[in-house]
Amino acid sequence: MNFLPEYGPAPRRHSRAVAVGHVSIGGDAPILVQSMTNTDTADISGTVTQVAALARAGSEIVRVTVNTAEAAAAVPHIRDQLDAMGITVPLVGDFHFNGHRLLTQHPACAEALAKLRINPGNVGRGSKRDEQFATMIEFACRYDKPVRIGVNWGSLDPELIARMMDDNAKQPLPEAAAVITRRALVASAIDSAALAEKLGLAHNKIVLSCKVSGVQDLIAVYRDLAAKCDYALHLGLTEAGMGSKGIVASTAAMGVLLQEGIGDTIRVSLTPEPGGDRTREVIVAQEILQTMGMRSFTPMVIACPGCGRTTSTFFQVLADRIQSYLREQMPHWRGKHPGVESMNVAVMGCVVNGPGESKHANVGISLPGSGENPVAPVFVDGVKTVTLKGDKIAEEFQGIVEKYVQDKYPTAKKIIKEIA
Ligand code: SF4
Repeated sequence: MNFLPEYGPAPRRHSRAVAVGHVSIGGDAPILVQSMTNTDTADISGTVTQVAALARAGSEIVRVTVNTAEAAAAVPHIRDQLDAMGITVPLVGDFHFNGHRLLTQHPACAEALAKLRINPGNVGRGSKRDEQFATMIEFACRYDKPVRIGVNWGSLDPELIARMMDDNAKQPLPEAAAVITRRALVASAIDSAALAEKLGLAHNKIVLSCKVSGVQDLIAVYRDLAAKCDYALHLGLTEAGMGSKGIVASTAAMGVLLQEGIGDTIRVSLTPEPGGDRTREVIVAQEILQTMGMRSFTPMVIACPGCGRTTSTFFQVLADRIQSYLREQMPHWRGKHPGVESMNVAVMGCVVNGPGESKHANVGISLPGSGENPVAPVFVDGVKTVTLKGDKIAEEFQGIVEKYVQDKYPTAKKIIKEIA
């Protein structure tokens, strides 16, 4: 484990940077956010729409499943359509069982992808396993693509685990089956990476992951993996689940590891609610990194939970409205107002903590609680600037935030003009 300082995360564990299209995983690169589509990849327009939505939400890499000949044939068209839309997000192909065949029959698929994901537990059985794994690595080498060797708890190589369990059973003091399973996950990833290198794949073309669904298992497995290699690591809890459970479990597991400096790219595998938005997993991943102080993606709203002092839901509505407004503005602000992504906006429910918290934020508003005068003082950079009242508090506060962004995060053009 890396040295943990008194404050803040441990230094990032050293890893070899892996170029994936125009971004990098590991090395000095920031911890990347990635996601995966849940469309049928053969449905070109549906997949393009979802990849575009994920990329616009901030996903820096997007994975698509490549499970059929139709899906493999669709990948180059998906890439072309995204390029035509100006969406350059690297695409990763997720291969299981028939990847060797699909790549052989559809080499254009390998060419269009920025990275291949291979699950060593789902490559093949018996004597076919190594041969099929070799075919996939050969395609990665031929098209100069990196590979994520992605081991998964649910599809761990049965021959490897059986062998390790047998060896354990022969020991005078056998260890618990769960310990051997965790060790087998790590061994599967590292042994497969060694085999890939033997087959010609460069060391800096390999990313590893060992996904499990339990928080403590994930922490134990990644600590072990991080100590045993310098490959870039893709972090994520598999089958994290729905709603708050999925978010809490992913955050608990990844928070510990990221604090220890482990992890070069993350994915939050949330099961969407029926009709839910796939981009939720991107926002949650960004929020994990931003609330831990590791990266900034979008201005954040600090809001109190409300209590018996709040007379209405007005402050909740305002907090929600401001957060949505900030997210909607980010695509326009990103290039125009550098630094705006680290701005904080406070929306507070009453005088108890309202003025204090508002003073800590870049812009804050303290709404009136029960029994208070119906006025809302606004603080800008810690100083009370105006007191809002009446029906237009929301609109006026939004206007103050907008003006703050224009003034405090000027465009490069404006800075040059001012200097001149
Ligand atoms: S700031 Fe006021 S309204 Fe908000 S939780 Fe604290 S006491 Fe309640």
